[in-house]
Amino acid sequence: MYEGIRSPAVHMPKTMSDLVSASTRFPNATFWAGGTYIMSRHEYYPTKNSNDIIYLAQVPELKRINRTDRYLEIGSMVTFEQMLTVGKQVLPGLLYTTLDRSATMIVRKQMTSGGAICTNEIRLALPCTLMALQAEVEIKTCLGPKTETKWLDIHRLYTRQGRLQLKKNELVTRIRLGFERENFSYFISSGDPMQNPHESVILSFACFYNQSVINRFRLCLSFPTSLLLVPQEIDMMMQGTLLPLSSSQIDRVVRSVMEEILASSEHEIPPIQLERARGFVESAMHELNAQSLSER
Ligand SMILES: Cc1cc2nc3c(=O)[nH]c(=O)nc-3n(C[C@H](O)[C@H](O)[C@H](O)COP(=O)(O)OP(=O)(O)OC[C@H]3O[C@@H](n4cnc5c(N)ncnc54)[C@H](O)[C@@H]3O)c2cc1C
Repeated sequence: MYEGIRSPAVHMPKTMSDLVSASTRFPNATFWAGGTYIMSRHEYYPTKNSNDIIYLAQVPELKRINRTDRYLEIGSMVTFEQMLTVGKQVLPGLLYTTLDRSATMIVRKQMTSGGAICTNEIRLALPCTLMALQAEVEIKTCLGPKTETKWLDIHRLYTRQGRLQLKKNELVTRIRLGFERENFSYFISSGDPMQNPHESVILSFACFYNQSVINRFRLCLSFPTSLLLVPQEIDMMMQGTLLPLSSSQIDRVVRSVMEEILASSEHEIPPIQLERARGFVESAMHELNAQSLSER
């Protein structure tokens, strides 16, 4: 039964320079973080042409969480559970809620920040929230001695359809977030995004305001296999708007998001996803109103 099956070689670098050299020498190898996504794919092993594996868990730099004066930096091998232990005081509320509501406790102990943003075919909760929080990611392009490192806005990792744009020899090493905290956040995910991604929708929303005047309004919607959208016009449209929003302003937000969804998708979106997206955006606006009224 296993005739012709090729066992993959597993490389286990212990330093960043070993990691760079392994990925330069084996450009087709698969980076293995927590393995939760890789192992959930059909027939990931054994196959006739299994890729070699580069196991990332033994490189200390990838497992660190750092606070500087301006940023919170999270290594790509930090697990969801470890991020949660950093706590609500340090993490943005939207990020804390996202991590807390993802998968189960056992899976959260295994899945990593880097693995969650680098899944190939599907865009789940963490990238959606990091887009709403305007995070940056550090990318290392492994080219032996000429290795390059750069910071990118996270949205540049993906196409509008949510497809990952990393090359084979590119590795995510850190995620960076500023310390400005949103005044209001809203996270919701419907359906089971792993089992039934074509019906599922994820919304992450962060609103920054000062004395009831909105100065940043960042909303991100993920239709896990077809669209990852930060509606651009709304952020501009809402800047300077006074809270609470009127019914006509809420209608305008919902209409504008739905128009951008339809204009951005390459394929027809199933009605259940459209309906869920509409409902989520509307509920987020009502919750925002409720919070702003309760602060008066
Ligand atoms: C039972 C179950 C339930 C789940 N429920 C949820 C949920 O409710 N919400 C949700 O958002 N997600 C959910 N997930 C999915 C989960 O988000 C992914 O499985 C997980 O984030 C992948 O992380 P990992 O560390 O295990 O990555 P891996 O599986 O190791 O890797 C995933 C991909 O990323 C690549 N990769 C990993 N690290 C890097 C790096 N540093 N640089 C470049 N490429 C890299 C790998 O090569 C691979 O292609 C669930 C998963 C399971 C198994």
